[in-house]
Amino acid sequence: MISVDTARDHLFSLVKLVPAEPVPLREAAGRVLADPVVAKRDQPPFAASAMDGYAINGVEADLHAQFQVIGEAAAGHGFDGNVGPGQTVRIFTGAPLPAGTDFVIIQEDVERTGALIYVTNAPSPQSNVRPAGGDFRVGSALPAPRLLRSADVALLASMNQPVVSVRRKPTIALISTGDELVLPGETPGPDQIIASNTFGLAAMLEDLGCRVRILPIARDTASSLTTAFELAEGADMIVTIGGASVGDHDLVGDVAETLGMERAFYKVRMRPGKPLMAGRMGQAAMVGLPGNPVSALVCGHVFVAPMVRKMLGLPDVLPEIRTASLAAAIGANGPREHYMRAVLNDGELTVFDRQDSSLLTVLADANALVIREPNDPAQDAGTAVKYIAI
Ligand code: AMP
Ligand code: MG
Repeated sequence: MISVDTARDHLFSLVKLVPAEPVPLREAAGRVLADPVVAKRDQPPFAASAMDGYAINGVEADLHAQFQVIGEAAAGHGFDGNVGPGQTVRIFTGAPLPAGTDFVIIQEDVERTGALIYVTNAPSPQSNVRPAGGDFRVGSALPAPRLLRSADVALLASMNQPVVSVRRKPTIALISTGDELVLPGETPGPDQIIASNTFGLAAMLEDLGCRVRILPIARDTASSLTTAFELAEGADMIVTIGGASVGDHDLVGDVAETLGMERAFYKVRMRPGKPLMAGRMGQAAMVGLPGNPVSALVCGHVFVAPMVRKMLGLPDVLPEIRTASLAAAIGANGPREHYMRAVLNDGELTVFDRQDSSLLTVLADANALVIREPNDPAQDAGTAVKYIAI
């Protein structure tokens, strides 16, 4: 058996960076920017007012000063003339500063009578002007790779970038295996259960920016599994669920190898998720996850998600390891690295008593996985432990 770290090294060597593709800005959120975007314009393109008020020359900004209002500048409608001494222009947020002005007295600081204003409060030292290029200048770059969030999309729009180059969505084929499985919504027979982790994994992978194909459930026969692998043709990664142990009905490894899978490893020294296998199958990376629902989803967080981030070219692919103190004592760990379902609340971690890998309710209640080293001794309440957020 190999360690989690060694397994991850093998897994990373199985994946390839997906190519870039252009997408309209409206489809860019959640995608990974492939090439830096360089601004071809300044923002704002002109000095603009940050407030509603009166534009003047800043040297005249004094308490009790008076100005004659000679025109108006609104957003989208600048004032064309020049503003001389003792003159001002009514101005609104977003309007270009008229020639001859560099300061905006906010409207709350003046009294207006007809075409005259009188400064009633000492003007604040700030000019209330957004300088040209104050947000970004020609040549400023949004660096890549970068997972595009809503603020990035707004920034790209502001750079007048209607199309951006992003990584193609990795396509993942998900194969559930087992005679006992039916799809949600179907009526299970007396010996059957509903395929669950398949849908959890699909959700996780789509969240990460993948295109997921849930293939028909493969039965525990070589021919059914072979058909499922054939249907996975064209995927960047094939993920099987179940059938990866050494039971009589666990055929995934054998069938995959018959179809040309070069096995990189089998079995990882971790809990849950020991029977994890991986290898290359033609152009695709193949990962065989254990069938138990929690094992499959924990392996999703610990192994599959980092592989996907690697395929997308993201710089930080591993789950971020954080620390927090235990709210209650926990017992000694066994010989495998253990990912224990826990709740982080007010900065303290409570590890659930029930850790059986079939219990999805416990996983649904968890927002953290506490990581225990192999043979870690019992720990008291208050001890700082490592965890990943889920
Ligand atoms: P296996 O690895 O095939 O021996 O499966 C281990 C356990 O996980 C068995 O109890 C299976 O019924 C269950 N299992 C396998 N695949 C799934 C699935 N897609 N959804 C829910 N449970 C599953
Ligand atoms: Mg099975």
